[in-house]
Amino acid sequence: MQFSQLVDTFGRVARDLRVSLTDRCNLRCTYCMPAEGLAWLPTDETLTDDEVIRVMRVAVERLGITRIRFTGGEPLLRPHLDRIVAGAAALRGAEGRPELALTTNGLGLDKKIDALAAAGLDRVNLSLDSLDPQRYARLTRRDRFHDVLTSIDAVERVGLTPLKINAVIMRGVNEDDIVPLAQFCLERGYQLRFIEQMPLGPKGEWERGDMVTAAEILAALETRFRLHPLDEPRGSAPAELWGVAPDQRQPGGRLGVIASVTNPFCGACDRTRITSDGQVRTCLFSQRETDLRSILRGGGTDDDLVEAWTGAHRGKAKAHGINEAGFVQPERTMSAIGG
Ligand code: SAM
Ligand code: SF4
Repeated sequence: MQFSQLVDTFGRVARDLRVSLTDRCNLRCTYCMPAEGLAWLPTDETLTDDEVIRVMRVAVERLGITRIRFTGGEPLLRPHLDRIVAGAAALRGAEGRPELALTTNGLGLDKKIDALAAAGLDRVNLSLDSLDPQRYARLTRRDRFHDVLTSIDAVERVGLTPLKINAVIMRGVNEDDIVPLAQFCLERGYQLRFIEQMPLGPKGEWERGDMVTAAEILAALETRFRLHPLDEPRGSAPAELWGVAPDQRQPGGRLGVIASVTNPFCGACDRTRITSDGQVRTCLFSQRETDLRSILRGGGTDDDLVEAWTGAHRGKAKAHGINEAGFVQPERTMSAIGG
């Protein structure tokens, strides 16, 4: 069996696979989806469980993938998610790879977490943009804040820690949550990551001026906490990490800021993505997709999948181009790409 790597013409090697399991979601975060009117992908165009598991097997056994993250849309809406996680866990070699993580809004996770942990899930990233129930309802367009807190407690109970929390900050919406979110995560020992808002939501709605920059987030944090940069090599990790000194109200810890727009990390990108309808995307912002579903359904071999996937990466763009004059937002919203 021939082994290849997902290497591009700039020498980057993809080892981190994002698997989108559905484009559907039970929230409507304003930065990700329109309030209504986004058609779901037809079910028959979505990869089956067996197709997803085959794609992951090829990625791990033939293409050197060492980390898999399940995402969406909301991956907890995927029936038999635990079966898919178990399928990925069965690919683990002696060194315990691939590492398996889930990015979720947390709704209903409390009911599924035991099965997911038993299936082999290693880590959870949970998205929470506000600690104010009404603000949470406004920005997700659904009144589900307390369900998220229940799920956070469940993740702790099962011991899938450290829990990572993702937060997107929007000007005039949830800037007042920057400090409370940090306080909450530091008190509880969670790893918080603030993410700059990217142009991947409803078309034409992203305004550079509305994006709260990493610098502004850090300035807000410094009004309350003493921060120091952590001199750890970032590798391909997108977050810039900061140590927080302990004080009377919190035990200290660390948090991160992902400056995808103001300080892109494209040069160290090690990601590849597959959408729920079986399209390889080498970047969130790709304008081109490579169709693995036709190969899967047309009797293609594993070699055919390897050839198509490696070919896609040979064409991976140098950078996402958000800051370039001719930037064009991709057709799919973040929910349909897989964040
Ligand atoms: N539904 C799950 C969730 O919300 O965690 C998984 C999918 S969601 C698309 C993955 C991550 O992308 C979330 O942390 C979300 O906050 C982030 N995200 C969505 N739209 C974004 C945008 N326009 N800019 C930056 N991050 C975004
Ligand atoms: Fe759904 Fe996640 Fe997008 Fe929010 S960020 S609408 S939870 S897919």
